[in-house]
Amino acid sequence: MKKRSVVNASVNGKKVLVRCDFNVPFLESGEIADDRRITGAIPTINLLLAQGAKVILCSHLGRPHGKKDPKLSLKKVSFCLSRHIGKLVRITGDTAGKIAKSFVDNLQNGEICLLENLRFEIGEEENDFDFARKLSSFADIYVNDAFGTCHREHASIVSVPKILPSYCGILVQREIDAMSKAVDEPERPFVSILGGAKVSDKIDLIKNLMEKVDVFIIGGGMAYTFMNALGYSVGDSICERDKLSLARDIMAEAKDKGIKFLLPVDNRIGREYKPYTESQTVDSDKIPEGWQGLDIGMRTSEMFSEEIKNAGTVIWNGPMGVSEWENFSHGTFAVARALAEGEAVSIVGGGDSAAAVAKLGFAQKMTHISTGGGASLMFFEGRELPGISALSNEKEDEDVPAFLK
Ligand code: AMP
Repeated sequence: MKKRSVVNASVNGKKVLVRCDFNVPFLESGEIADDRRITGAIPTINLLLAQGAKVILCSHLGRPHGKKDPKLSLKKVSFCLSRHIGKLVRITGDTAGKIAKSFVDNLQNGEICLLENLRFEIGEEENDFDFARKLSSFADIYVNDAFGTCHREHASIVSVPKILPSYCGILVQREIDAMSKAVDEPERPFVSILGGAKVSDKIDLIKNLMEKVDVFIIGGGMAYTFMNALGYSVGDSICERDKLSLARDIMAEAKDKGIKFLLPVDNRIGREYKPYTESQTVDSDKIPEGWQGLDIGMRTSEMFSEEIKNAGTVIWNGPMGVSEWENFSHGTFAVARALAEGEAVSIVGGGDSAAAVAKLGFAQKMTHISTGGGASLMFFEGRELPGISALSNEKEDEDVPAFLK
């Protein structure tokens, strides 16, 4: 069911609470490392300001678990946002207390403020209805533009829209549209590249995609469980021995369905799980005891790149190795490069894969880079995101029962 969009909301003179996902990474120097989650919210913010709304932004940052931690203040986010929109975004001193209330009460049409970190209040993560009610009392309507948090059942995501008339933000709409189109009407061949640490984290994803894709490309730590299931010894590589029979079933099902299932043919292996450990490249059937696979090898990168270049649609979730470490990041970068050089519709599922694309400066070459790793994973598993389900459907009545206000 299509959700009511902020684009069609009448907001002039109204207080609008916008849930954003400003949970951005920071460098050791304290600077914001990647501001795509902040810039992603700008279309919704600009639309609301232009229409004379009183805009109240809110977000979480990090995991303070209900404690006020100055290191996790949203102050730097407010500076960054102010620079981008060319307008002062003042930050309230508390989240939903007296200071925030006085800020909100004094907002004029076309003005904007940012509430302090939602997770400074324990009620946010506990989905406490009283906390949701407090937040809701600040506003007339609610907009969810926090795609990266839509998989969480937190107060500002699922309970506030039960209280206030709710709308879908532009970023959330773009994410859903791009990913739905890729999965429901893919240009073929449809390739899914899966990596990351564990098979167990991606089982539901594989099961759902099994009904849709033409090719699975498997890299990263999870490849070693599949390789071991085929009878290769994988040394000290990360391998889930309790998932070997599941891995065999997955490969058998793919074969039955005529789906190509590509595993690494060579690997960059290390002596220890350390960034500068002694390393070498070996074929997949020659991983010695006492060594572990930390990246795909050069021949595998070429094989995967070839497949990506011939693809019509590619969805990518998870790195091909320990891409945080330069010595084991080549496979992940090779995949990012192949996607950038190819013609395929390319959907990158957030997290390490998105970081690799951004680091190489290929962001503009992708069809869509999701701002939510966990949320996009849930979407591709075919599950409904709680934050989206909670929003009002198109044509729904705006009236809110008085007892809820
Ligand atoms: P995920 O969150 O499941 O996408 O996993 C991402 C994590 O997988 C990253 O932190 C990588 O360092 C890790 N990873 C990828 N390949 C390997 C590998 N071969 N061995 C150990 N960890 C890996």
